[in-house]
Amino acid sequence: MAVLATSLTLAACSRPNEPPGAANDGSSRAPSADQPPGEGAEAAAEAAQEAAEEDPTAAPAASGAPAGSSETADGSEGDNAEGSADAGAPAPPAPPYVDRLINYDDARRALTVEYRRLHEGGDPQDVLIEPRLVVLHHTGGSSVDAAWRYFNRPKIESGRKTLAKAGDVNVGAQFLVDRDGTIFRLMPENWHARHCVGFNHLAIGVENVGDGKEHPLTDAQVEANATLVRYLAATYPITHVIGHNEANSMREHPYFHEEVAGYRTRKGDPGPAFMTAVRARIQDLELAGPPETAGKRP
Ligand SMILES: [Zn+2]
Repeated sequence: MAVLATSLTLAACSRPNEPPGAANDGSSRAPSADQPPGEGAEAAAEAAQEAAEEDPTAAPAASGAPAGSSETADGSEGDNAEGSADAGAPAPPAPPYVDRLINYDDARRALTVEYRRLHEGGDPQDVLIEPRLVVLHHTGGSSVDAAWRYFNRPKIESGRKTLAKAGDVNVGAQFLVDRDGTIFRLMPENWHARHCVGFNHLAIGVENVGDGKEHPLTDAQVEANATLVRYLAATYPITHVIGHNEANSMREHPYFHEEVAGYRTRKGDPGPAFMTAVRARIQDLELAGPPETAGKRP
């Protein structure tokens, strides 16, 4: 156990884009104030349910504090300090999120690696992923705090029998977008989160607080998702952005990989209207979506 944890830590820390820095300014940000205090448990359950059904994919690795956003903020912050930015190199976009990191302790890392071995095959030693696509979701609830608390738990709910059978690590996502458009980063974006069956080894998950019914996703969330995808595409070799509802249509794509026969989920979030709205704002990025048969595969 100790050996495993050590190797994970080294692997993560060796990544140049993962400084061992502390959380950025987001860690001290107060939770959204518009959440009725009484709905926590219910919303948590909703979020849990949606997330749990997502698809159990593993979590990221590395121990200690997750990388802060400071590594990607060099351009914006450095420029102000000295005004000596290289004239020829455009500054990378500033991270549009604030950190509100969930628990990614040694236990979660170990469960994540275990999950990866089961679902991705091979002999993964860490929780690092190579981001290639972004998968958008909604939580199924209305409370950002409830969703955060749910994702914060390292282990899957025992009540989610199908998911629990497919691995003990809890569901999660790299990002959680509140209804006012505030983007919270829950873990370094290249750490493994369990959110979309068959794609977690290369997918960045973005959960949006809402359910598409009583709490439809907001215009602010559309803008926030577009901004976040734009940032991620500038930071990683992202080729696709899809909705969770479109994931099944990507099963023939080389990105899809699921070792457990028959382990599939079928999700409706965040839905075609939200995906259309987000895509309309990032057309210039020319990211691919699902094939034309999207949504028609069982
Ligand atoms: Zn989903």
